[in-house]
Amino acid sequence: MYTVIADLHTHTLASSHAYDTLDGMALAAAGAGLKALAITDHGPAMPDAPHAWHFGNRTALPRLLHGVALLHGAEVNVMDTLGGLDFTEKQLAAFDWVVASIHSPCIPGTLSEREATRLWLAVAETPYVDCIGHSEQENYRYDYKTVARAFAKNHKVVELNGNSLNVRKDGIPNMRSLLLACKEAGCKIALNSDAHSAMQLEQGVKKLYPLLAEVAFPPALVVNGSTENLLEELKLHNRRVAEELGGIVG
Ligand SMILES: [Zn+2]
Ligand SMILES: [Zn+2]
Repeated sequence: MYTVIADLHTHTLASSHAYDTLDGMALAAAGAGLKALAITDHGPAMPDAPHAWHFGNRTALPRLLHGVALLHGAEVNVMDTLGGLDFTEKQLAAFDWVVASIHSPCIPGTLSEREATRLWLAVAETPYVDCIGHSEQENYRYDYKTVARAFAKNHKVVELNGNSLNVRKDGIPNMRSLLLACKEAGCKIALNSDAHSAMQLEQGVKKLYPLLAEVAFPPALVVNGSTENLLEELKLHNRRVAEELGGIVG
């Protein structure tokens, strides 16, 4: 019932706790039958992030690699409960795809539900954030219903993160509540591997499908479920890449 044609959150060894090259990741994506791949290495506030210049040199990169269309993006860090990020608005605008996530080196410890709700409501209003990364984490639990409505209104795509099943297990029960809130609000989601190796990328996001089936999540709300959905979403986000990608994968 569910399928994906793109992975919208992956890392290369430019983030030094990931292990494969851009070329290796594109090859793995081709092997997995994906049409598009977003490379979203860590923003500068993370200890393993590439130098800031890494993100400004994208013209050196191809749009198509091993038959897979590349979206050049970043996983940016939410820095405070006001929704501050570790890139400027101008930098965010230049990306093809931006995932915003909370990481413990940037926001240590735990946030109260009130603080985490405030944080995500602020991010919902931030231009050039396309996707909300692994937000099911237990120590940053928020009011899913209220925030999902704000995300839906502002075209923020909520990610369901395959890697969370391995490394953020305490938040797994929250994924179900988050999915239900998204379904109720008509908020779109993305199924992403958050792969830190070609192997993880090849394994994909199949382990998330039973959770979607359990809540009867509408496939029409999965932005990377079809080429049409993805292109439409990129247009809604005013991403210039939408037109170029349409010519490649349309
Ligand atoms: Zn992350
Ligand atoms: Zn990541």
